Amino acid sequence: MARVVLDDLMKSYGNFHAVNHVSLTVEDGEFVALVGPSGCGKTTTLNLVAGLLPITSGDITIGDQVVNDLDPKDRDIAMVFQNYALYPQKSVYKNLAFPLQMRKLPRDEIDRKVKEAARVLDMTHLLERKPRELSGGQQQRVALGRALVRDPAVFLMDEPLSNLDAKLRVQMRSELKRFHHDLQATIIYVTHDQLEAVTMADKMAVMNGGNLQQYDSPAQVFAHPANMFVASFIGSPAMSLIPLEASTVDGNIVLTGAEGWSLPLSSFNSRKIQNAKTRKVVLGARHSTIKLHKTAVSDAVPAKAYTVEPTGDVTFVQAFLSGAIVNISVPPNVDVAPDEQIWLEFDQERMHLFDGETEMAIK
Ligand code: ATP
Repeated sequence: MARVVLDDLMKSYGNFHAVNHVSLTVEDGEFVALVGPSGCGKTTTLNLVAGLLPITSGDITIGDQVVNDLDPKDRDIAMVFQNYALYPQKSVYKNLAFPLQMRKLPRDEIDRKVKEAARVLDMTHLLERKPRELSGGQQQRVALGRALVRDPAVFLMDEPLSNLDAKLRVQMRSELKRFHHDLQATIIYVTHDQLEAVTMADKMAVMNGGNLQQYDSPAQVFAHPANMFVASFIGSPAMSLIPLEASTVDGNIVLTGAEGWSLPLSSFNSRKIQNAKTRKVVLGARHSTIKLHKTAVSDAVPAKAYTVEPTGDVTFVQAFLSGAIVNISVPPNVDVAPDEQIWLEFDQERMHLFDGETEMAIK
């Protein structure tokens, strides 16, 4: 296995930068997810690492070698795509053996590697079947097996689960995680699904508009989003982002909503905003950190319920506050109706504060 380093990587089409000054290191044996909305540059980044696209500038290192000018076949990588790309006429065995035959390996070595991959991926009983005789999940396992037999330094995976139905995706997610755990493989994995990234990856690279927004463990990205984009992209339902105005009252910061209510801040949060010296503040709060009250209580601000969605073990309420929509989760026995007057209390220790001008987290 190998470490992969992207150093100031650029891919431009004319004046448009599909990948814009991206630098990151994938350590040996790490599972890294490139995640972001459609068009953010994640597939382009993966294809640059694979050598399927020429880079505009920067360097890509795999192991000890700068691979900028190497052909894909010389990069010691194996790709897994969402469409599986299996040979329909060949059996599973032959699909797995084919890349090794192309490399002219001896027949008994090919046999050993194919059987070992089939064992690891629990598909020994499927070796004689044709792809059309397999379920979507089994086909995806064959695609993974074909990458595995090549014993590459790095696995590159582009949305490998996106053709599977919801239930199978969840199952394959666990299997891929297990695959990584067992092999300690270096994996770079592209997905637009933040939940896939959060559940599987050691680190996630959150991209937007060709730019790397944050690169850290899922737990860190969740707990300390670097900016408002990351805050709203990671987590479901999305973190609520409420634009407010900061002012000083008796030496402490108070945040005022568009409706005129004021929210006093704890001394810790006050200090953060005083240091940031900004008047425009965006308050970020995850659904589970907001308490919904049906009557006025101190430190809670007035809002209006908009939608109420029971899901069984939790009910999601959306409310309007200061021109923003706020997501709140409440126990199923809390009875709230659309348009009802409610009061929201924010957990001061778990609230996020962003600079309304730069959209960066206030630290
Ligand atoms: P998706 O999840 O939709 O696949 P992505 O994050 O993988 O999105 P990319 O495929 O990497 O996005 O594309 C990044 C940007 O580069 C997009 O805006 C895309 O339109 C643009 N792009 C890709 N290839 C070309 C090209 N050959 N010429 C011009 N622009 C391109």
